[in-house]
Amino acid sequence: MSRSLRVGVVGGGIGGLALAAALRRHGIEARVFERAKQFGEVGAGIQMTPNAVKVMVALGLYDALRQISFTPQALVGRHWRSAREMFRTPLAGDCERLYGAPFLHAHRADLHAIFAADLPDGAANLGVACTGIEQRPNAAVAQFDDGSAFEADLIVGADGIHSVVRKCLFGDQPPQFTGNMCWRATVPFATQPLNYVSPDSSFWLGPHGHVVTYYVQGGRAVNIVAVAETAAWVEEAWNVRSTREELLAGFAGWHPNLIRLFSQAETVFKWGLFDRDPMPAWSVDRATLLGDAAHPMLPFLSQGAAMAIEDGYVLAASLHDHGGDVAAGLRQYEARRRPRTARVQLESRERGRTYHLASPLALLKRDIAYRVRNLINPHKSGIKANWVYEYDATAPALAKAA
Ligand SMILES: Cc1cc2nc3c(=O)[nH]c(=O)nc-3n(C[C@H](O)[C@H](O)[C@H](O)COP(=O)(O)OP(=O)(O)OC[C@H]3O[C@@H](n4cnc5c(N)ncnc54)[C@H](O)[C@@H]3O)c2cc1C
Repeated sequence: MSRSLRVGVVGGGIGGLALAAALRRHGIEARVFERAKQFGEVGAGIQMTPNAVKVMVALGLYDALRQISFTPQALVGRHWRSAREMFRTPLAGDCERLYGAPFLHAHRADLHAIFAADLPDGAANLGVACTGIEQRPNAAVAQFDDGSAFEADLIVGADGIHSVVRKCLFGDQPPQFTGNMCWRATVPFATQPLNYVSPDSSFWLGPHGHVVTYYVQGGRAVNIVAVAETAAWVEEAWNVRSTREELLAGFAGWHPNLIRLFSQAETVFKWGLFDRDPMPAWSVDRATLLGDAAHPMLPFLSQGAAMAIEDGYVLAASLHDHGGDVAAGLRQYEARRRPRTARVQLESRERGRTYHLASPLALLKRDIAYRVRNLINPHKSGIKANWVYEYDATAPALAKAA
């Protein structure tokens, strides 16, 4: 019965396209509406953690992902100025054994292209921005800025942190500024890997900020995420241009290897980091939310896109499980996904506090805890994300437990 369902997906980011891919695997028709005139993603990296990679395997997209990825050796915590190791969580080899899938680094544009290539011809309308949602008996209609409309059994808002669909369903509550801003750059290299950038996911922890560096594009580029606490921010966007000089000024005095890397950044973006409190519901009648539209989070556990990918898989499976009963499918979807995404949202906030500690006493306590835990079990030390990676959105019994 699920074969007769028709789903309209507002937003063709990673979450919207992951949903479209999962729906198609269940024989459910999906049409994607994206406000950009063409598909594309800004130049930035993405950590594809084992929980997200499991979904890529289930969607049959793992081989394509593998081809564009880099496998980090370990997740390493380093002192911002001395580069002293504070924790080391082995990844290569261990993640397959512990979590059933590897930990990979990719470029967002490459990942997005894998999903875009999976869309059948005619499944996407580009250059149309959703302006409203109308509920009808047994249907919902998405309205667009070109005057067109699309009626479907279900409309899914996968339209990001400033979701118009969310606003239509739940009213206008702007996301909150978290007190953090972030520079992002990708530095390409002809050779790989560089002797001063280790082949790890490196978390450089400093007072009131941290920097994450890792290889993408099979090791031909290094991705930089440099986070700093700040009192004010005016804009939330992927693509506010910054400069190498501004990035360097923000991290003066940090380790020479970081400064050397930053000084080779050609294109630098910056933006404020916003999130929301977990929502008590995502769905109203025949419309629901997914990804950042439902649960925007700080990137400190590297999970925003991973959660959107998991959401897409579970929503498609829930609709399939309940055949034509959309309400039952949405109940199952929320029951599986809201507890998990809420925990990731809240723990991401907490990691920011831990990473950015500044007082000598608090730092001493934190660093001793890192060392002790690392000796006992390195997989439960450091950023403490083992519970995130264990989850398998493709296994109904585990997914139900959230
Ligand atoms: C610094 C930083 C680092 C990060 N690192 C990681 C990481 O390592 N791993 C990870 O998993 N996540 C990471 N994330 C999070 C991740 O990038 C996001 O959570 C993820 O992109 C959300 O996907 P989405 O599809 O829900 O939303 P988006 O990617 O925002 O996509 C929304 C889409 O909807 C479209 N749209 C918006 N409004 C409309 C409208 N009205 N009509 C039609 N279309 C519309 C937009 O153009 C866009 O294409 C990071 C985020 C930040 C800020």
